[in-house]
Amino acid sequence: MSRISRRSFLRGAAGTSAVVMLGGCAAKPSGASTPLTTTGASPSAKPKRIIHMVSDGMSVGVLTLAERYSQQFRGTETNWRKLMIAPTGEHHQGLMDMASASSVVTDSSAASSSWGCGHRINNGSVNIAPDGTPLEPILVTAMKHGWAGGLVSTATITHATPAGFLAQSNKRDDEEGIAKQYLERGIQVYLGGGSRFFDPAHRADKQDLFMGFRNNGYAVVRSRDELLNQKGDKPLFGTFAESHMPYTVDHVNNPALLAGVPTLAEMTAAALSRLESAADHFILQVEGAKIDHAAHVNDAPGLVRDQIAFDDAIGVALRFQARNPDTLLIVTTDHGNSNPGLFGQGDAYGDSDKLFSKVGRMTRSYSAISGDWNANMSVPDLTSLIHRGTGIELSVKEVAMVLEAIRSHGPNPYTYQNAAIPTLASILANHTAVSWGGTSHTGDYVTLTAQGPGAASLPSLLINTDLNAFYRNCMVRA
Ligand SMILES: [Zn+2]
Repeated sequence: MSRISRRSFLRGAAGTSAVVMLGGCAAKPSGASTPLTTTGASPSAKPKRIIHMVSDGMSVGVLTLAERYSQQFRGTETNWRKLMIAPTGEHHQGLMDMASASSVVTDSSAASSSWGCGHRINNGSVNIAPDGTPLEPILVTAMKHGWAGGLVSTATITHATPAGFLAQSNKRDDEEGIAKQYLERGIQVYLGGGSRFFDPAHRADKQDLFMGFRNNGYAVVRSRDELLNQKGDKPLFGTFAESHMPYTVDHVNNPALLAGVPTLAEMTAAALSRLESAADHFILQVEGAKIDHAAHVNDAPGLVRDQIAFDDAIGVALRFQARNPDTLLIVTTDHGNSNPGLFGQGDAYGDSDKLFSKVGRMTRSYSAISGDWNANMSVPDLTSLIHRGTGIELSVKEVAMVLEAIRSHGPNPYTYQNAAIPTLASILANHTAVSWGGTSHTGDYVTLTAQGPGAASLPSLLINTDLNAFYRNCMVRA
């Protein structure tokens, strides 16, 4: 662990707000629910490094969609499938129960907190029990045991999933407050979006947190070039977008974005390189955040291409693990979202593959297309806009339905799927064979794949909070 990180951590522990109380992990806060335990809390072997990868909001059908894309357009299987089919060394494939204290359908902050502090808490909170007790996040535990830590995300780096590993807040949306906790706690690597929460021009308190990181000895990077050309062994802080980072399908089709913004795989590689030189032991959280964002609006090209970008990051992690076999790799998600899937179309469902290939050829996310439409548009103009982004020429009747959804603000029978983008998605489903079950998170069990020391001791159905106990046990030296 670098001296800088420990110093920053200790300063944070000594002088921050009442909510930010470190080292006080209550054994059982009242109201926090840990209804079951599994036998997976004790690793059979202890890794020196943990890479925890989250494809946020990934319903299991996304695996099939990404696989079809990968085989049709990349000519190879996904890394995740290879990991499942041909593991090396200790391996585990199973399910995880992600319920929170307040709902069987978790949100991202309660889900990440279940891994972060080992308790089920209410949706909307970050490592705060329902009775208000602050709970110790796993990256704080890691620092106490001499482990380095890192956070990587394509969302704002202060968003719910990375925050669940390091921060404590009653409100996940208090990203300015979470940004300040990041500065105070000082782990080795932060890479993602969300520059506005560190920028004095946007923060309510006008504090310059970029300067704060520099003063604490960090290398601060703000572009892809700066990240890729970064050398040395300083702790690393980088944000590459004001808010969330762009959808991959928009990123790779925009030369300016491609040049200026790193991919999730590039951020993962930079984080692993920096952590490797910082400490013998570390835990890195990597989130592909925009799978969830795409699912919320039924955006097929947004979803599929971001899952492929996540898969590229799995490839980086697997190559690191091949060089460092004492690394435990966990690849999972925090909850399902909207349950997309490839549906059968045509005689004997024979058209599905061919129709799905249209998603692979799309050049814009549905969200980006929606940024260019308005209620006063003509049907021909909207037809052209949709065609330019998707390659699909909709009929006058179909486009009129999208236009009606753009203009409509009243109730209709499809309460959750009548917004404009999901309406476009429902119509395009007839052309792509990709349909959706809703626009929100689901309570489904999620898939979990693990490879490396300790993986084989995970149970087939893991309770989310037990993964925290598992990680903590890995950190206790024999
Ligand atoms: Zn989530």
